[in-house]
Amino acid sequence: MKPFDGPSGWMWLILLALGLLFFGLLALDFVERRKTRRLLDETDCRLCLNCRYVLRELPDEGVCPECGEEYELKHLRAEWRDAYRVP
Ligand SMILES: [Zn+2]
Repeated sequence: MKPFDGPSGWMWLILLALGLLFFGLLALDFVERRKTRRLLDETDCRLCLNCRYVLRELPDEGVCPECGEEYELKHLRAEWRDAYRVP
């Protein structure tokens, strides 16, 4: 059975498309995680858990000015470290 010939040709195309989509999403996820990790390093984990707003200039406890989520630095650090394995 030749690929791209008859009904099975579509299956190859669909498999190929799904494969590309899968690796595309993996690559996007990788880039996104790397960006967030760098941001976490730069801000010492002072990022809003909800919207990732940089809380660097703000007190250790308070409300995110961007989305209104309450935060506490200790809690932020624990959550980010857990999610991204920041040392
Ligand atoms: Zn926020």
